[in-house]
Amino acid sequence: MKLKRRALLKSALVMASIMTLSKILPDDKMLKLAADEARKILQGDEEPIHIIWVHSQSCSGDSVALLNATDPSIVDVLIGQFKNIGEVSLDFHQTLSPQWGVDVIKGGKGDIAKEWDAVEILEKAKSGEITPMLLVLEGAFPDESKAGEGYWSSIGSLNGEPIKATEWLTEAANYAAAVVAIGTCAAFGGIPAGTPNPTGAKGVYEILGKDYRSGLGLPVINVPGCPAGGDWQTKTFAHLLLTVKSLLPPPELDEYLRPVFLYRNTVHERCGRGIWYSAGKFSKEFSQPYCMYELGCKGPISNCPITTIPFVEGVGICTEYGSVCIGCTDPRFPDSPLSPFLKALPAPTVPIETAAGIAAAIGAVLGASITYKARKAKKEIEVKKEGSE
Ligand code: SF4
Ligand code: SF4
Repeated sequence: MKLKRRALLKSALVMASIMTLSKILPDDKMLKLAADEARKILQGDEEPIHIIWVHSQSCSGDSVALLNATDPSIVDVLIGQFKNIGEVSLDFHQTLSPQWGVDVIKGGKGDIAKEWDAVEILEKAKSGEITPMLLVLEGAFPDESKAGEGYWSSIGSLNGEPIKATEWLTEAANYAAAVVAIGTCAAFGGIPAGTPNPTGAKGVYEILGKDYRSGLGLPVINVPGCPAGGDWQTKTFAHLLLTVKSLLPPPELDEYLRPVFLYRNTVHERCGRGIWYSAGKFSKEFSQPYCMYELGCKGPISNCPITTIPFVEGVGICTEYGSVCIGCTDPRFPDSPLSPFLKALPAPTVPIETAAGIAAAIGAVLGASITYKARKAKKEIEVKKEGSE
């Protein structure tokens, strides 16, 4: 992640341009934020970037995956391993925050007690007192109007009243430089939103609305996966932190707001078993080494980074370790056509509204079908030959 001299010069030029443009277009929100950051970097008085990470309807699997990230690790990000990012402060995380309760620090002049109040951090975040803020959400967000007299998801309580996750999110998002939905539940509703979805669970971008834009002028950024791989998460954070510092343009997003640099390919396009698909050789039961299309693999319709960025330290690719892909990064997961997980796709069921995906899937399935038919015809000829000999 080191910036080379040429990149550094380019960054300086970008910063100078941003600062000039912000004078010409003083009302542009993103330019103003970028110009402020650029000015602070040049003057050497930059503040830490704050990460506020809130779980709602989640199993915490994405946080566990985050702890397994290695390239970069979350520790690398937090201890300022990246010179150009500077200090990053994880101010709030329901299971990892140190800022909880009372800390007693031994000092030369006696104990120094520092009281941390987690709920106070949440309150500050939703009233714009924590900036610049990267708001990270994990888990789906429910429709509290369906909760009757109770509530579905709270992230703490204030004055005896629950802080409802969905309400808090809609307020805090107004002050975020960027909003990142980590994992399929936060991105698209995921398992909590699966049919029949009793809590009315939704992904963050549905809660905030399709026109939502963060301080950097970005929509919600989705990093789906069940869970999202740790390195997919930290690479997205590293990119956004550099964007907050005006050192990188925002990541390009696909139609489902996923970073293209991660979700460009389908699992099928890079699967190690792909050669068997092309050859029309399919596993009939688990433990066989061939393509698992007939066992229910959804790799042909699932865009996922796993074949280029496996789960932990280059190891762990679902289809290469004997499991079918169940399409956990897809907006429709866990419903049809991803489930039943072990049922083969009916025909070339294709990624929603993606012309390239449609062509690829049709091509792939037709290719296999043609190969299969050719093999069948060849076999029939061989059988006939044997019969006539
Ligand atoms: S169908 Fe699944 S197992 Fe077969 S090649 Fe494609 S991704 Fe791999
Ligand atoms: S390969 Fe399929 S099941 Fe595995 S992480 Fe990717 S989308 Fe999910």
